[in-house]
Amino acid sequence: MKTLRIEVEIPEDLRRDVEQGVYYCSGSIVASRVDRERGSSIEIDVLDEADPASLEQTVRSWIEQTIRSSLRYEATTVREWGGHDGFVATTEEVLGSPEIHGLGEGLVAYGPKLTRALRAIRGLCESLSEGVGADPFTLPAVATLEHMHRCDYLRQFPQLLSFVTHFREDFGAIDAYSLQCRNAQVADECVPSTDGTRPVKRVLRPAICYHVYACFDGGTVPGKRPFIACAHGDCFRYESRNTTSLDRLFDFRMYEIVAMGSEAGVRDLRERMIEEVSGLLERLGLPGRVKSSNDPFFVSGSVMMSTFQRAQDLKYELEVPFPNREGHLAVASFNLHQDFFASRFAIRTDDGAVAHTGCTAFGLDRILAAMLVHHGADPDGWPASSREMLRLPD
Ligand code: ATP
Ligand code: ZN
Repeated sequence: MKTLRIEVEIPEDLRRDVEQGVYYCSGSIVASRVDRERGSSIEIDVLDEADPASLEQTVRSWIEQTIRSSLRYEATTVREWGGHDGFVATTEEVLGSPEIHGLGEGLVAYGPKLTRALRAIRGLCESLSEGVGADPFTLPAVATLEHMHRCDYLRQFPQLLSFVTHFREDFGAIDAYSLQCRNAQVADECVPSTDGTRPVKRVLRPAICYHVYACFDGGTVPGKRPFIACAHGDCFRYESRNTTSLDRLFDFRMYEIVAMGSEAGVRDLRERMIEEVSGLLERLGLPGRVKSSNDPFFVSGSVMMSTFQRAQDLKYELEVPFPNREGHLAVASFNLHQDFFASRFAIRTDDGAVAHTGCTAFGLDRILAAMLVHHGADPDGWPASSREMLRLPD
C-alpha cells in the first residue's frame, strides 16, 4: 500500500462528496481523506500494483471536472434542536452487539430486539403517514431498465446501481453451471460466465418512490390537495469503500411518503413533514438539524443536477450527530422534484397542469443506528420515554 497526496483546491461544499466519490474512480483506491479544513489536497491510499502517475491524472481530472460543472452554494440550516450531549455507545460497541450479524459487505441481519426496534421505528413512519392521509402501496424491489431510464437514474447515478440477470432458458448453460458449482472448492469458482446469462434488463431499486410514479403513468391526481402515497422496503446502493458500518449499507430499509399534486400543495406537505419529523426525532431523544443538501454525484451530469438541487433548495436532510468522519448522519430527506417525474410519466392534476412531486424518505437503519449510539447498543436500556413512544414492551 502507498499513499498519494494530490494538491488540488476543493471548495468546501464539495469536500465530503469528493472524499466519498473518489472510490468510484479506481478499484485500487482503498482509503481517501480530503483535508476538510483547508481543502487544499486529497490523500488516497492505493494498492501497490497501481500506477501512481496515471491514477493521479484520473483523480485530478475527475475532481477538476466535478468542480467545473458545479455551482457554488452555502448550505442553509432551517431547523436545529439539542438533546443529550455525547454518545452512549461507540460504533464498535454497536457493531459488536450479538443482535447484529454481518452477512457480507453492506449486508446486515438484526436479531429479535433490533428487529422489534426497527419495526417500531417504521411504525412511527406509518403514524406520520396516517396523519397526512397517505394511501399505502406495495412495490417490487426490482425495477426495469426502461423504468429507471425514464426516471433518468441510469445517466445520473450509474455508480450506485446493481444489475440483475439470470440464466437464459438453455439446458446446456444451466446444467454446465450446476456442474461448475458441484466441482467448486470456493465460492469464487461459482461466478457464472456471462455466456449463459441474459443481457441485463433489470436493477435492484435504489429508492422507493420511482415505482409510485410508474403506478400513476398517464394518470391524474387532485390539484387541490396532493395525492399522498406511502411504501417501504429494501433499497440497494453500491456505496463502494464507503460501506464500512451500519450507516452506509448495500441493502438498507427505506420508508417513503410521496406527494403528487400542485406545486404549492407538494411544497406545503414538505414543510409539514420537516416540522413533524423533526418533532418526532426530538421526542425520541435524538438531537438534530435540517439542512439543505444534494444527492451524491459521480458522473458529470449528476454534478450539475446535484448543484441545481442545492441552488433551488430542492433537497433537505435531517442530520443527527453521529460518531463518523462527518460528525453527523442523514436519517431522512425531504425532496421536491418539481414537475420532473410527472412529465416523464405524464401525470397531470385534474385542472390539466403537469403535476409536481415530492418525497420524504426515511433511512430506517440509520434511525436505528442513531438510537443505538445515542441511547445504547441494547434497546432494553433506552430511555423510558423513547421506549414508550416506540411502544417497546417492558
Ligand atoms: P447520503 O447523502 O447520506 O448518501 P442520500 O442523499 O443519497 O444520502 P436519499 O437518496 O435522500 O439519500 O435517501 C433517503 C434516506 O435513505 C437517507 O436520508 C438515508 O437515511 C437513507 N440512506 C441512503 N443511502 C443509504 C445507505 N447506503 N445505507 C443506509 N441508509 C441509506
Ligand atoms: Zn423518493
